[in-house]
Amino acid sequence: MNCPVKWRLALMAVIATVIVFAAGAGWAGQEATRSEGQADITAVPHCPICGMDRAKFAHSRMFVTCADGTVLSTCSLHCAAVDLATRLGSAPASIQVGDYTGRPIDAREAYLVLGSDVFGPMGKELIPFDSQAAAREFNRDHHGTRVVRWAEIRPTLLERLR
Ligand SMILES: [Zn+2]
Repeated sequence: MNCPVKWRLALMAVIATVIVFAAGAGWAGQEATRSEGQADITAVPHCPICGMDRAKFAHSRMFVTCADGTVLSTCSLHCAAVDLATRLGSAPASIQVGDYTGRPIDAREAYLVLGSDVFGPMGKELIPFDSQAAAREFNRDHHGTRVVRWAEIRPTLLERLR
């Protein structure tokens, strides 16, 4: 049993746009601190796509649970897209992303900061938070361009990251 195709296509569109803007961006060397809820890192310490240390990039890691029970654990949206592209028959049932502290949260409920000076393993990233107040504070402190929700992400919006 799979998720609706439109849901999977929306995820792939978001991931594809992030990849475009992540390409060529620098390595920030940001290191998130360990926090609760990181059993996925213990289970899969390194990204199966690029080999990055998922603990070091706990704030950008992704883990996607597919309807068939398959779990994809990667370092970033970039690698999640690569992994999902090879599993077209397994649509996501849930998408979790590490927030800035490394705690896993539902990507669809997250407040995402665009254009900040904090980078992920593959370059520019959306930096997720579980509260709007925290996202706004981070946006101000780290020179972000705006705070958006998952459903608001469009290619035209991401062009502002350049
Ligand atoms: Zn990776």
